[in-house]
Amino acid sequence: MGETARAKNYQYYGYAKATNAHTSQYDMVAFQNTTSCGTATAVSLPCMFSSMTREEYEPRRARAQDTLIDVLDHGGINLLWLDNDSGCKGVCDRVKHINIDLNSDPQLCDGHYCYDQVLLNELDKALATPVEHDTMIVLHIIGSHGPTYYLRYPDEHRKFTPDCQRSDIQNCLDEELINTYDNTILYSDYIISQVIQRLQAQQTVADTALVYVSDHGESLGESGMYLHGAPYSIAPSEQIEIPLLSWISPQFSQENGIDLDCLKHQAASGTYSHDNLFSSLLGLMNVQSDVYKVQLDIFAQCRTSIENK
Ligand SMILES: [Zn+2]
Repeated sequence: MGETARAKNYQYYGYAKATNAHTSQYDMVAFQNTTSCGTATAVSLPCMFSSMTREEYEPRRARAQDTLIDVLDHGGINLLWLDNDSGCKGVCDRVKHINIDLNSDPQLCDGHYCYDQVLLNELDKALATPVEHDTMIVLHIIGSHGPTYYLRYPDEHRKFTPDCQRSDIQNCLDEELINTYDNTILYSDYIISQVIQRLQAQQTVADTALVYVSDHGESLGESGMYLHGAPYSIAPSEQIEIPLLSWISPQFSQENGIDLDCLKHQAASGTYSHDNLFSSLLGLMNVQSDVYKVQLDIFAQCRTSIENK
């Protein structure tokens, strides 16, 4: 689960800088033309984990309904939510969840924030116990949370320079601000690549896959706008165009009949949104439910044996 990553600064979506240098060595699928449900975490997160589409979405109704996490839980999936951001906004309240203690690791945390590396350490702890049931683990990263972008990445991941080492970002040069933001995207890309490495290491005991999606985008000074949270109807594209990626291991695609070439072909030309997350993850986890909508499952059309699940 990403934070404040916008598609525009992703190499996968045509950006000229190598902001996906870490994951590009893996067999990633990048879904083009993906939009968010909201322009802020508190809207997007409950919306994408609800069975409602953006058009249907009502916060009060969503709070009274099962979230995607609840439906997976009822379907027998083992769940764990690890949070290094601002919490899960109620969507994970009924399953096991761990909010990272900001004083837990002096190397990675300063008492206010932790680098997302801290989630990998937590993931390692979770994976040290053998996986016995179908499991979904959510890593809620702090990603590109601003305006203190420079606090999101450790020094060894400061690849694009000169960057902007301050929080009053409007006083940075455009180039510095973009470099700082790009460092956050590259560091998140590193974290994703590290998760994939760990999933590959599990392959003797489990078929593994990863889905990554951001909650909303970000303005970086375009038309004088910074940060996010603009009313949806007038929000600039930078705030609502987001990355959506998947990595599916060969074993997982084989066991679940997902044709990766078909998926790549579709992902290159389709149009996607947060509306797709709910049914796509139910489909990926093989959980049958009345609230599943096949037309919203981004993997459905590339399943070779959908009836044999
Ligand atoms: Zn957010």
